Amino acid sequence: MSLLRPRDVLDHVHDITPEFLAARGLRGLLLDLDNTLIPYGSYEDRADVMRWAAELRRLGIRLYLLSNATGRRARFWVEKLGFEGVGMAGKPNPRAFRRALDSLGLPARQVGMVGDQLFTDVLGGNLTGMHTILVRPLAVNALPHTRMTRKLERAVLRRYGHDWKA
Ligand SMILES: [Mg+2]
Repeated sequence: MSLLRPRDVLDHVHDITPEFLAARGLRGLLLDLDNTLIPYGSYEDRADVMRWAAELRRLGIRLYLLSNATGRRARFWVEKLGFEGVGMAGKPNPRAFRRALDSLGLPARQVGMVGDQLFTDVLGGNLTGMHTILVRPLAVNALPHTRMTRKLERAVLRRYGHDWKA
């Protein structure tokens, strides 16, 4: 299996339903923050995402925020979301993924890594033996290095037969 290949490709975290998780034997999720749950850099609440997360937690799904954002930004969102997590995770380095799994007390095969980037979220999740779920980025980031990364991601995804519709 290619380490860059996501197991599932979805438009939005809302597509991750209790049925979706049950069908895959997943009992927990590690969640990327920027452009997965919240538009890049935003501090504004997304009521729909908060409701989605609360509903999964009510059903006993364990959630953990795994972000490469600054510790301060991650702490703000951890507090707001009401579940545990860290910033400065150093994705795709598997170390923070393993620590998150330890904290959830779940084996890698029962946890999904949900994120919008192949080279951090999907690569790290696959290296750790998790079920990787790629979601379409919420906002298009105009930073030059991000544009290049996005181009590479699209090229890899197309090879796997996936393409974001324009
Ligand atoms: Mg992201």
